[in-house]
Amino acid sequence: MLIYVHVPFCVSKCVYCAFHSRVPGEGDVTRYVGLLHKEIDHWARELGRVPVESVYFGGGTPSMLPPGLLGPVVRKLRTAFDFQDGFEFTFEANPQSGGVRDYLRALAGMGVNRLSLGVQSLDDVMLRALGRPHTATDAINAFYDARQAGFRNINLDFIWGLPGQRLKQWLEDLKRVVGLRSEHLSCYGLTVEAGTPLEEMCMTRDMDFAADADLSRMFVYGAEFLEESGFLQYEISNFAKMGFMSRHNLGYWEGAEYLGLGPSAVSTMGGRRWSVPAGMDAYAAAVKEGRLGEGAEELGFAERVKELVMLRLRTARGLSLKEFRALTGGNLVKDNEPLMAALRQNELIRISQGHLRLTKTGMVVSDTILARLFEALERKGALEGGARSIEADGAPGAGVPA
Ligand code: SF4
Repeated sequence: MLIYVHVPFCVSKCVYCAFHSRVPGEGDVTRYVGLLHKEIDHWARELGRVPVESVYFGGGTPSMLPPGLLGPVVRKLRTAFDFQDGFEFTFEANPQSGGVRDYLRALAGMGVNRLSLGVQSLDDVMLRALGRPHTATDAINAFYDARQAGFRNINLDFIWGLPGQRLKQWLEDLKRVVGLRSEHLSCYGLTVEAGTPLEEMCMTRDMDFAADADLSRMFVYGAEFLEESGFLQYEISNFAKMGFMSRHNLGYWEGAEYLGLGPSAVSTMGGRRWSVPAGMDAYAAAVKEGRLGEGAEELGFAERVKELVMLRLRTARGLSLKEFRALTGGNLVKDNEPLMAALRQNELIRISQGHLRLTKTGMVVSDTILARLFEALERKGALEGGARSIEADGAPGAGVPA
């Protein structure tokens, strides 16, 4: 099982952010931590001491939790669940709040073995425009502080496609980033989310975004440059040196069971999915009344098929055609021949070794490819019932029609 802990606080709100987080009021952090303890107790009673391969503290800004409050939470997690040998323990930190050597040392002392720093850009003008509470120098210092604190597995988060940013600048930024020699990079394209200040800015001002063709080049050339620099693109937005792929993220894309703790966190277990209430009062009520996991929904057949296709196609490994057959009984390639031929001719997909994969150009338009694919599956009735589970077949893909 994977565990995700959502910390719903930030120093300030970035203009593009749609995550559940806010600037904490007095007593909020202590109250949240008290509730988190109770939530862990609840699941320890419900699930027993289940094996855990990965713990991920995200948010929000987890590094806003003082070590004195965080340490007991980590100890409780270790007691409640069976952390497996070699488990991955990731902690997200923002340079502004995490760039303190003592804090990072405290994290290492708690067993955190993977640090994820939200750098986003190495351009101070862009960082200010995004509402980030740190400078590029803060971020670089935080990276070296983390090295000194003993972290040997560091991810740096970046965003491309920022207002005013062009291909040349993105590639120059990447050159500097590669020079830091982190083990992992996450590079996300900026998206304008509904309800964010960035959306409001886009509606009221002329924003200097690069043209679509330029954005595509930023993605493709950026990914090629990182691969030439020793990073493997193992997912649309994620790049790792050999042996440093995030086990937590891979587990999620490959359909592992996960337990989400903290306001707004999502869990999926035993084919059921639920969310923790998002507001602090609603979270407190759910924890105190033992209503955690309430309202869990059974994942329908169509949802399971779409999720399988969507999550696997994000990865470099791609979608196993055998796994698709085991779930649906259908042959994805043969049953959708005209669409597959068109996608192949346009070099958007590749099919080899029993897997369907997106090419780099395909990744740029992955949303459109998925939409076409789901339309085609819907037309064929492939999203309607009749699920065949892997277990029912005895082995993955065994006995399914060729
Ligand atoms: S630091 Fe992250 S979670 Fe917090 S406001 Fe910025 S983008 Fe959102």
